[in-house]
Amino acid sequence: MKTSTMTGVVLPGNSTVAFKEYPIPAPGPNQVLVEMKASSICGSDIRAIYREHLGKGPEGYQGVIAGHEPCGRVVKVGTGCKQFIVGDRVVIYHISGCGVCDECQHGYMISCRSRFRAAYGWQRDGGHAAYLLAEENTCIRLPDSLSYIDGAFCACGFGTAYEALRRMQVSGQDRLLITGLGPVGLAAAMLGRALGATAILGTDVSDERLAAASDLGLVDAAIKANDEALGQIMSRTGGHGCEVSIDCSGAASARLLALQGTRDWGRCAYVGEGGTVSFEVSKELIHKQITLFGSWVTSLKHMQELLERLDRWRVHPDRICTHRLPVSEAGKAYELAAGGQVGKVCIVFDDAGPN
Ligand SMILES: [Zn+2]
Ligand SMILES: [Zn+2]
Repeated sequence: MKTSTMTGVVLPGNSTVAFKEYPIPAPGPNQVLVEMKASSICGSDIRAIYREHLGKGPEGYQGVIAGHEPCGRVVKVGTGCKQFIVGDRVVIYHISGCGVCDECQHGYMISCRSRFRAAYGWQRDGGHAAYLLAEENTCIRLPDSLSYIDGAFCACGFGTAYEALRRMQVSGQDRLLITGLGPVGLAAAMLGRALGATAILGTDVSDERLAAASDLGLVDAAIKANDEALGQIMSRTGGHGCEVSIDCSGAASARLLALQGTRDWGRCAYVGEGGTVSFEVSKELIHKQITLFGSWVTSLKHMQELLERLDRWRVHPDRICTHRLPVSEAGKAYELAAGGQVGKVCIVFDDAGPN
């Protein structure tokens, strides 16, 4: 007989993980109950919740079940649902918005400023439990060719990388510089390649991350982020720099390097969160005619588009998954993710394979 409770992971802060028992929720109108298959850990979980509850506003953690990269299978459907039925495989766009503001109306629930906005794993229960109660309008169908881990990675990290690359219109005309080869940087490399970028240069301070990016064949050059990095970027691009660059680290020096490594008239995006940056605006930005983008997560529509393209490209985000752990080992999973030397860490529930 099935039990009526489930164990959920909460993050009390101070680099700790705790387990709590919850009743298995029942879907209300326009909601579905999703049996979790994969629920990965994002850098934001570490930065704003796990170590300390630093987040404010949309990043304010309310003591709920953690996990904002959920993917699973619909097992119950509430009244009024219009699209999904029991058995459907879904990725959950991790923010439920008010649904009526400008941002929600074009699918950017991430930018919804309403008091009704709630992100899974931040202000409402997330994916680190056997079941997740989701609004139907935050679910996106997972193509059959993609694994549940592929789907989970798209719920935040890959979606974030895709949105920035898409906004910069990366194509076969471009070489791509990525500063910071953590999970989002690796995602940018994988997607940049699929979009046609002809050379991909990646920088990081960590030798392990550089080696991992090279071993996976995701970058054409893995460059140590030190005083010589800019010189190396220039020498590998005929002295021009890359047409497109993206900072995925959030570190001031890496943001500057991304900008300095961008070719005249090029495009540069910042997606790495937190911190600051300081640079000579005339020299680094204006006189180089650079377009600088700030890009935060993605829209519902673009996440759907990403999943469709991954299916068509036969590209699998789960290639960068270095650790799969059961929910009972969430403590270890967070410790690994916080260690920062690895690719993506994912909490998995029984079968997280292709179907
Ligand atoms: Zn809204
Ligand atoms: Zn995230």
